[in-house]
Amino acid sequence: LEPSYQFMIRVRTPGGAATGAQWLMMDKMAHQYGNGTLKITTRQAFQLHGILKWNVKAYMQEMNNALLDSLAACGDVNRNVMCNVIPSMSAVHEEVYQWAVTVSEHLLPHTRAYHEIWLDGEKVIDTPQTEEVEPIYGELYLPRKFKIGMAIPPSNDTDIYSQDIGIIAIIEKNKLIGFNLTVGGGMGMTHGDEGTYPQLGHLIGFVLPSQLVEAAEKIVTIQRDYGNRIERKNARFKYTIDRYGIDWFLTEFDKRTTFELQPAREFHFERTGDRYGWMQGTDEKWHMTLFIQNGRVKDFEDYPLMTGIREIAKIHQGRFFMTPNQNLVIADVTTAQKEKIDELIKSYHLTDGAHYSALRRNSIACVSMPTCGLAMAEAERYLPSLISKIDRLLQQNNLSETEITIRMSGCPNGCSRAAIGEIGFIGKGPGKYNMYLGAAFNGSRLNKIYRENIAEEEIIMELTPIIKHYAQTRLQDEHFGDFTIRAGYVTATTDGRNFHEI
Ligand code: SF4
Repeated sequence: LEPSYQFMIRVRTPGGAATGAQWLMMDKMAHQYGNGTLKITTRQAFQLHGILKWNVKAYMQEMNNALLDSLAACGDVNRNVMCNVIPSMSAVHEEVYQWAVTVSEHLLPHTRAYHEIWLDGEKVIDTPQTEEVEPIYGELYLPRKFKIGMAIPPSNDTDIYSQDIGIIAIIEKNKLIGFNLTVGGGMGMTHGDEGTYPQLGHLIGFVLPSQLVEAAEKIVTIQRDYGNRIERKNARFKYTIDRYGIDWFLTEFDKRTTFELQPAREFHFERTGDRYGWMQGTDEKWHMTLFIQNGRVKDFEDYPLMTGIREIAKIHQGRFFMTPNQNLVIADVTTAQKEKIDELIKSYHLTDGAHYSALRRNSIACVSMPTCGLAMAEAERYLPSLISKIDRLLQQNNLSETEITIRMSGCPNGCSRAAIGEIGFIGKGPGKYNMYLGAAFNGSRLNKIYRENIAEEEIIMELTPIIKHYAQTRLQDEHFGDFTIRAGYVTATTDGRNFHEI
C-alpha cells in the first residue's frame, strides 16, 4: 500500500491551439482520470488536476494518441511558447503563429526519456526528438525554466514584458517585416527576500523573420552558460541580465549570432486583455472569444460551461485557442456553421456572463488552493467573490464599464502575472494578501506594494476612497494604474530592482 498521490499534468500547446478532437479527448480524460474539470492556464496550456499516480502513464499514452504531449511543459527548459493570435484572422497572423510553432519546436529538448518512460519507447509520430544529444541545452539543461511569448501590437495579451524573451511582430502594410525582441522579464520572487523581484523585459532591437530562430536559440544559450546554477532563487534569466548588464548581453549576443541586431522598430501596445464576442477574419471565417472565469472549465449551476464546449467541440471543424487571459476562442467557424454554434452558445448560456463588469473581464487568477502545493492563500476560488465586492464600489462610482486589470496569485511565484495587474494581490498566508497598485494597463510597467498582509475587510477599506477619488478626478481616458501614481498612492516602479521600494 502507498498513499494515494495525485498529480497535475500540464499539456504543451504552442499558441494555445487544440482541435475539436483534442478538446474532446482532454474533456474525456478530465472525467476519467482527473477531477472532472479543465484549467486553461495563463500560458495557454491545459492543466488537469487530481490524476492519481497509477493513472499517470495511461493518461500520457492517451494524450499522445491525440497528438498532444507534456514535453517541456515543465522543467528547466523553454516552456510553452505563447502567441495569442488567431491564425486565420489574416495571412500575417498565420505567419506569426507559424513562427511561434517553429520557435517552440526548435527549442524542444531532444531527449528520448519522455518517450521511454511514458510511451514504452514507442514513437507515435515523427518528431524532432530523434537524437539523444542536446545541442541547445547541453548536459545540464538550463539553470531554471525559460519562457517565450509573441504578440502582435496593439495587443499585448501575451504580456510580452513578463517573458524571458518577448517577440513583438512588426507589421507594415499587412506584411510581417520582422520582430522586436525583449529579454529578461519574469514574475517570480520570494517574500522577504529583496534580492528577488519581478522584472520587465528590456527592448534590445529588431531581427528579420529569417533570423528569429537563431536569435532565440543564442539567447537561450547565453542563459545556459551564464545563469546562476548555485542559487536557484536567482537563477532566472532576468537576474543574469541584471547581474551582467544589458551592454554585456548585447556583446555576448553579437558574438554568438551570424547577423547584426538592428535598432528596434516603432510599435505601440494598448492593452493586455482579450476582446470578447465574434470577429471575422480576412478569409471570412468567424472567431468567437468566450469569457472563462479564471480559466476553469466545469459545469456550474445554471451555467453548464464544460458540457456546452463539449457539444461545440463535437461539431466544430476549426480549432480552439486558449488565450493568455485564460479565455477560449472558438476559431475558424464558417458562416454556414456559425448559426449552429451560436445556438449551442445560447442554449448552454455560455455568454450569459457577457454583462460581467469590465473588472471581471480583465481578471486573472492562478490555480492556487487546493491543488497547487506552493499556495499560501486562495486565488482562483476567492478572486470572483472579491471582484463582486469591488464591483459594488465601482458601481457606486459609475465605473462598472471602466476597464481595470486585476490579478491574484496565491504565492509570489506569480503565475497570474499579478505584478502587472493595475490592482495586484499576492498571497501571504490564509486570507491575507499583499496589495499592489500602479501597473500600466498595457503591461509596460510593474505595480508597487501599497499595503502588506491585509485581509478582505482592509482591502475594501483601502480601495473605497481610492476608487472614489479616481471617479472624481481622473483625467480623460486615464487608466486606474496611471491615476494611482499621479495621485500619489504609489510611486512608479521603473525597474524591477526597485519593486520593493516604497
Ligand atoms: Fe503559481 Fe503560486 Fe499560484 Fe501555485 S500558488 S499557481 S505556484 S502563483
